[in-house]
Amino acid sequence: MNLSICLLPGDGIGPEVVAEAAKVLRAVADRKGYTLELREALLGGCAIDATGEALPAATTVACQAADAVLLGAVGGPKWSDPKAPVRPEQGLLGIRKALGLFANLRPVKVYDALIDASSLKPEVVHGVDMLIVRELTGGAYFGQPQGRSGNPPNRQAVDTTPYTEAEIARLMRMAFELARARRRKVTSVDKANVLATSRLWREVAHEVAVDYPDVQFEDVLVDACSMYLIRTPRNYDVIATENLFGDILSDEAAMLAGSMGMLPSASLGEALNQYGFRRGLYEPIHGSAPDIAGRAIANPLATILSAAMMLRWSFGLNMEADSIERAVEGTLADGLRCKDIASPGATILGTPAMGDAIVERLWR
Ligand code: NAD
Repeated sequence: MNLSICLLPGDGIGPEVVAEAAKVLRAVADRKGYTLELREALLGGCAIDATGEALPAATTVACQAADAVLLGAVGGPKWSDPKAPVRPEQGLLGIRKALGLFANLRPVKVYDALIDASSLKPEVVHGVDMLIVRELTGGAYFGQPQGRSGNPPNRQAVDTTPYTEAEIARLMRMAFELARARRRKVTSVDKANVLATSRLWREVAHEVAVDYPDVQFEDVLVDACSMYLIRTPRNYDVIATENLFGDILSDEAAMLAGSMGMLPSASLGEALNQYGFRRGLYEPIHGSAPDIAGRAIANPLATILSAAMMLRWSFGLNMEADSIERAVEGTLADGLRCKDIASPGATILGTPAMGDAIVERLWR
């Protein structure tokens, strides 16, 4: 097997954490006799500096040629002037669009060893293991008309939330397929008591659910869901929702786990790679953390876990993905921590040492 992966290290701590994930991927490939073809390309602030564009054409070509893409993070104070004509985030939106990625997947798992890092009580978060599937290309973030008009005291602004039946159905199908590999429960989140798009969402979600009689299905209103997420989070398996609701709920759910440095994510589209699996873009949910960049203290675990998701969903390598995830659990259970998740008595490791600790525990 030849794993062709495009790396987009990006800015800030991006290159530091991507280097550790690449180290783990190399160790897996060496052990299993796979060829690993890692190509690096520019995205975000570093791309603006080098080419004037956040997403150079060469990056799009390199990503489209690969079976999967691993991204660090983009952005930082150097490029954050709101009036700048080119911004690093345009690179992120652009590459998602170019790869046709319509679903963002964020697993939220609470590790026993880190249970005290959560701001909720241990008995509430113990055993939490959910997957949030968020629609990524439709809804209020892209709908037209969008904009503002008028002058004080008559300023006005408008956003529009369009959704088509096809957009809803493909997202819900993906959620049901993913639930089949988990605890077989899908919760569709909407605001059907108020919004027309949500009423269509609910109707289509129920039509899709008919094809998955083996998966338990429920609807929850978004306001209720935000409450249940902190009251009874263990009840959720797969949560499927539209762009805006997903953006908010996934950040809320991330806090159940306590640390940004631990949470991976994936964005998937319809396109399949040479192995018949979905081409995807995998990345940690955290940003470029300019406050700690260049100090070799960033936690690489979210990026390493993103690489595990990549092996599972873009290459079908479930055993290898499991062994990375077990190595992460083992490392934490052995009391090894990066600074962001340090607890009293833990051994603090820098970024490369954490990568080494995962590699050492891969096949135990
Ligand atoms: P951030 O996630 O970069 O940092 C928030 C806090 O968490 C900081 O204190 C940081 O040091 C810490 N942190 C984050 N990741 C960590 C890790 N792996 N290990 C240890 N500590 C970690 O969010 P921010 O400060 O709001 O944003 C910084 C920059 O990143 C901005 O330019 C923003 O636009 C960008 N950003 C990019 C992405 C992305 O590329 N997907 C996502 C969010 C923010």
